[in-house]
Amino acid sequence: MLVSYPYAYDAPVSQTLFDRAAAVTPGGVNSPVRAFRAVGGTPRFMVSGSGPYLKDADGREYVDLVCSWGPMILGHAHPEVIAAVQAAVARGTSFGTPGEGEVELAEEIVARVAPVEQVRLVSSGTEATMSAIRLARGFTGRAKVVKFAGCYHGHVDALLAAAGSGVATFGLPDTPGVTGAQAGDTLVLPYNDLDRVRAAFAAHPGEIACVITEASPGNMGVVPPAEGFNQGLADLCRENGALYISDEVMTGFRVSRAGWYGIDGVRPDLMTFGKVMGGGFPAAAFGGRADVMAHLAPAGPVYQAGTLSGNPVATAAGLAQLRLLDDAAYATVDRVAAQVSGLVGEALAKEGVVHSLQTAGNMFSVFFTDGRVSDYDEAKRQEAHRFTAFFHSMLAQGVYLPPSAFESWFVSAAHDDAAVERIAAALPAAARAAAEAAA
Ligand code: PLP
Repeated sequence: MLVSYPYAYDAPVSQTLFDRAAAVTPGGVNSPVRAFRAVGGTPRFMVSGSGPYLKDADGREYVDLVCSWGPMILGHAHPEVIAAVQAAVARGTSFGTPGEGEVELAEEIVARVAPVEQVRLVSSGTEATMSAIRLARGFTGRAKVVKFAGCYHGHVDALLAAAGSGVATFGLPDTPGVTGAQAGDTLVLPYNDLDRVRAAFAAHPGEIACVITEASPGNMGVVPPAEGFNQGLADLCRENGALYISDEVMTGFRVSRAGWYGIDGVRPDLMTFGKVMGGGFPAAAFGGRADVMAHLAPAGPVYQAGTLSGNPVATAAGLAQLRLLDDAAYATVDRVAAQVSGLVGEALAKEGVVHSLQTAGNMFSVFFTDGRVSDYDEAKRQEAHRFTAFFHSMLAQGVYLPPSAFESWFVSAAHDDAAVERIAAALPAAARAAAEAAA
């Protein structure tokens, strides 16, 4: 089956691979946003990565501003991470028993993030949020979950009642395959609106098990919490006997040593992690208050398990990456993010492109809209066609951006001056393309 999009001519080998993939995999990809559906064109099949660069199957090199959607904070193929992985692989790849690497990774997380007294390792962010919610329900004996429109917590059934449509408002499933029963206990509220959270607690006394939120959302583009929002959530949860779950799968160990908690200091009951803590391997975690975590099997009655949880190769990669992430590394990532986002803003302003450049620590994204975006409805109002033109111009010039206007951009400590200069050189033409883009 031939999957044809514009821009196919750019990448003949990737196009051939994509055609083969589409024959054996739905949509040709194993995770939807990789398919370039939002921007059109042929997804680039990458064959290798080194530092800030990716190389595709057609032999083209890109400065990578996706970093595997966050994990590669030290750049690709960091020699010390690779060495740790090679040593771990040589010892065997999975034992199905406890191992020292799991203990060390758990100790590293507990040492970095004060609210995490105990932690359980899993294999994906989805598993982490799914398990945290089950635990919150088991601990409180309540059913309802509050989440915010535009926040993504993985493809957990109960959390896919997500976008601000009328269906979502009534807690009905947002995607076929999620039943009303699975989504019916989910209350979807607009982000950054504490009054609505207060009203939800008033309308459902004694029924809400937890409020889950991205610590600082990056899945509707970067929309940081308003001053006092996270603290307000924590307070409302405490006053109403619910748990406050901070999803740090994206922000954890990326925006600071202790993630977003290291920036705003608001203490959650439970937290979820993934991405950076796996060093590019499938490792994730949830943790928090010891009295809550004590409800988890085998210590307590709430069941949760995983054949590959705490896998020795994944934990070795994650541990190696976290140990390299000292203050100097974070300072570098922060500096590069400020440089790149500053250059993007300058280039767009020069071409008169209406935009809002939003940052949360070293995460940032551009909304092609007027004024600051503070929730999902506002995010959706942007002129996404301008992003499409911008994206393809950058891609053609060798800069790989997230293929969607609703995603955070990520840099790494390996983005050196040469990489930043390549981005800077590509921006004027991309800004012009955005300015000239027709709806
Ligand atoms: N939570 C957040 C905030 C995320 O950004 C993601 C993934 O992007 C997830 C959960 C799900 O993680 P995973 O894709 O590892 O299942």
